[in-house]
Amino acid sequence: MRQLAMVIDLNKCIGCQTCTMACKTQWTIGKGRDYMYWNNVETMPGKGYPKDYMDMDAGFDKNKEVRLGPLPSLKDYGKAWEFNYREFMEGKDKVVRTEEVPAWGPGWDEDVGKGDFPNNYYFYLPRLCNHCTNPACLAACPRKAIRKREEDGIVLVDLEKCRGYRNCVRACPYKKVYFNPAINKTEKCIFCFPRLEDGKPQACARQCVGRARHVGYLDDKNSHVYDLVKKWKVAIPLRPDFGTLPNVYYIPPFSPPEFNENGQVSDKPRIPMKYLRELFGTTVDNALKTLQSEMEKRSTGSKSELMDILIAYKYKEMFSL
Ligand code: SF4
Ligand code: SF4
Repeated sequence: MRQLAMVIDLNKCIGCQTCTMACKTQWTIGKGRDYMYWNNVETMPGKGYPKDYMDMDAGFDKNKEVRLGPLPSLKDYGKAWEFNYREFMEGKDKVVRTEEVPAWGPGWDEDVGKGDFPNNYYFYLPRLCNHCTNPACLAACPRKAIRKREEDGIVLVDLEKCRGYRNCVRACPYKKVYFNPAINKTEKCIFCFPRLEDGKPQACARQCVGRARHVGYLDDKNSHVYDLVKKWKVAIPLRPDFGTLPNVYYIPPFSPPEFNENGQVSDKPRIPMKYLRELFGTTVDNALKTLQSEMEKRSTGSKSELMDILIAYKYKEMFSL
C-alpha cells in the first residue's frame, strides 16, 4: 500500500481561509452540507471546530481499542446563519437574522489566542481529514462502509453501504467525518482524488496563497514530503497520542520571544513548549531545533536544503503526484 501525505508549514500559514473556500466551493455546497468544512483553519490556542473536539475522548485507547466519544451537536459546529432574504427581496423588511444568535461557529475564536500583552500569541492550524494509516472511523463502522485505497491510502466512505449510524463521527478524534441529514449518511474529505487522478494536487494545496502545503507519497524519495517527514524529520502529526497514525503533517510554529518585566526581549519562547508537546508530542523539540539551526545557517549566508524546500521557490516542486 502506498500513502499520499500532506505537509503544512505552520510558519507560512497566514490564516486567510483560501483553502477552506477552495474546498467548500468545490465539494460541500450541496444540501445538508451547510455546516461541513472538510478543510478549516483554526486559531491556536483555541477550542477548534467542532468546539472542544480534542476533548471528546475518541480515537484509540492504550489497548488499541477504538473509543466512541460523544456525538458533537450542531451547536458545537455552529449552524449556518439564516436571514430573511425573501422578505427583504419583496421589500417588506430590512435584512435581519431569523434564528437565535449562534454561540459558536468555524473560526469563532479567530485571532484570540492566549497570553497578556505584550506576550500574547497565536498561530493558525489548517485541518482536514488525515487519511490515517489506522483510521478510527474505519475501525468503528459496523457496515464496513469506510475503506482505505491501496494505491494512495485515501480514506473514503462508500455511500451505498453507509446507513448513517455515525459511529465514525464518534470515533474520529479529529472530528473530520460529518453527518449529512439530507441523505442520512456521513461524508468526509476525499483528498480531492478526482483531481489527483487528473494529475492535479488537492484544491486546498493548489490554492494556498502562502505556499504552505506540500503533497507527495511517503515512499517517494524525490518528494518534498519525503524530505520533510522522513529525511529532516521536521514535519510531525497532530495529536499522535490519538493513535490513528495521521498522514497530514505539520512544520511546527516558531515562537516569538517573551518580553521580561523590564520590557526587554528574553530567551524564553512565548508559545509554551508544554503546549506544543501536547499538540504534537515530544518530537516537536527536535523538529524545532533542526528548523532553528538550519534557519541560522541560512541567515549567515550558508546553504540550507531544508530552508530552500520550505521557502518553496517553485510551487510545482511542492507537489509530487
Ligand atoms: Fe478517519 Fe478521522 Fe483519520 Fe480522517 S482523520 S481517516 S475521518 S479517523
Ligand atoms: Fe493557510 Fe494556505 Fe489555507 Fe491561507 S490557504 S489559510 S495560507 S493553509
